[in-house]
Amino acid sequence: MIFKSQYPDIPVVHSDLATHIFAEAKHFKAQRAVKTRFAICDAPTGKELTLETLEQYCNQFASALQNKLSLAVDDVVLVFSPNTIYYPVAVLGTTMMGGVATLANPTYNERELAHQIKDANAKAIVTQSHLLPVALDAIKHSGASIPATNIVLVDIEPTKQSQYVHIEDFLCQKPFTRFTINTESAAKEKLAVLSYSSGTTDSLYLSQKKNEYVKLGLSKGVMLTHHNLISNQLMNRIFDFDDGWLSDYNTLTTFMGVLPFYHIYGFTHTLLVGISSAVGVVVIPKFEPNLFFSAVQKYKVNIAHLVPPIIIILLNNPDVKKYDLSSLRHISTGAAPLGDKIVKRFEKMYRNITMIRAYGLTEASPTVTKSTRDCTKTGCSGKLMANVEAKVVDEDNKNLGVDEIGELCFRGPFVMKGYLNNLEATKNTVDETGFLHTGDIGYIDKDGDVYIIDRKKELIKYKGTQVPPAELEALLLLHPDVVDSAVTGIYVEEEGTELPKAFVALSPSLVHLTEEEKLKKAQEIRKWLDGQVASYKRLRGGLTILDAIPKSASGKILRRTLRDMEKSKSDFN
Ligand code: AMP
Repeated sequence: MIFKSQYPDIPVVHSDLATHIFAEAKHFKAQRAVKTRFAICDAPTGKELTLETLEQYCNQFASALQNKLSLAVDDVVLVFSPNTIYYPVAVLGTTMMGGVATLANPTYNERELAHQIKDANAKAIVTQSHLLPVALDAIKHSGASIPATNIVLVDIEPTKQSQYVHIEDFLCQKPFTRFTINTESAAKEKLAVLSYSSGTTDSLYLSQKKNEYVKLGLSKGVMLTHHNLISNQLMNRIFDFDDGWLSDYNTLTTFMGVLPFYHIYGFTHTLLVGISSAVGVVVIPKFEPNLFFSAVQKYKVNIAHLVPPIIIILLNNPDVKKYDLSSLRHISTGAAPLGDKIVKRFEKMYRNITMIRAYGLTEASPTVTKSTRDCTKTGCSGKLMANVEAKVVDEDNKNLGVDEIGELCFRGPFVMKGYLNNLEATKNTVDETGFLHTGDIGYIDKDGDVYIIDRKKELIKYKGTQVPPAELEALLLLHPDVVDSAVTGIYVEEEGTELPKAFVALSPSLVHLTEEEKLKKAQEIRKWLDGQVASYKRLRGGLTILDAIPKSASGKILRRTLRDMEKSKSDFN
């Protein structure tokens, strides 16, 4: 059966993202009884941009890309930066001249960043001084020709002696050809943002070639069009007015910008929704509990989009009591599962805060379900938002009914255009009827509430950030003592996150190792792997040496067996 949203379909305006965001922002700013002075503000320094300045900067950034760097329509600008008030300038400014912004995790190492630079064919990079060494190495490794003139710094305070231009000096007042969209076909065709995701389907092959970058398991470029992003904004808007935080819109003043803007959830939900609702976004460059608490207190933050591990900090960190967090009225949680025990504790401790649970994925721009304010069902991720159709399918792709467990699939204007340069992965993910196969296992009940209970795809979420097991498995195979490997996520409820955990089989020459020697070897391999990847991909769940990796007859790693084993066996940490 096909499940339909209970909300009426909403028409998607055929516009470009920046035009839409600023039109909404002006509309809401005029409507609202309470005005926020800034559109976006840096919490540590207090530096802020008003809505008017933000729009002007976006235009001037677009002009600079065109007039100073001679970038053209469809050229890609890579943003490699922690959260900053300049983030929307770089992204929306890029789209205003018809460019595409690709958002990179600022904790990437040079190997990981080089992949994105090359895959997206970036022509310019927006970054910060402290990330320059990684960015420059990555450019070299990617083979891209990005001259120093095409590197723009977005440090909150410009560094005077740098040979690279700061964004405030880069902005250009010359007229430029503004890119706009007026037709449905153009809105559906034209890319605005290239987010990176490990994808929703299995990778069945591992490269064993040494001394070569591991290509498998690396993330794929998710092509999000102007139509995709605007539709998801509108779907959220309707929901938020009917059932979410916007129902007390007139008295709200500030949004918390703590989730990383490079991730689609932080980018669309905090940054774009915050700006377009004319609710000031308070930016935190990197989550740090006391900075977060003090920013809530100082800016009287009303709404915070969070991920489960931050919610756990709100419950457990003793410093919470030192701050006045009473301005917080709404919290949205998403990007990863949140245990029911945590939900209950949160509701008990923060009686005046509504918790909205959301579920989505990068390939859906991202949200497809949200829980209504009166939802008390355990484990529920909410209802289908407007414009969403869903189906649940079994292993043979047969449609299932109410309460039947299978893979969740969604259809609507928010479904990505596809994976960049990867027709095969696109075909395996979006079927011929337009449904996006999420790789998530769940069911939909008689009231239309959606439950996520497991994952079919190979993906680990560490604190809301994707860790692709295939990438770590392929890297482990490059270690001289490893002949086979498997990586899976071990969920730790107290931390509200999965931890990447590796299992390896050693080369036959090492079979004689004693238990103690194995323990040492496991530590050595783990340390080696941790040195190859960004911090969030490290093997925080440990590494265990096995005689053989359990596999199915077709050679697929039996990850569930490993997870079950983990519960009963002690490892060699
Ligand atoms: P990303 O593309 O990084 O947003 O990751 C999307 C994936 O995160 C989904 O396919 C799910 O596996 C997981 N996810 C997102 N939201 C939730 C949620 N509310 N509950 C459980 N898993 C979630």
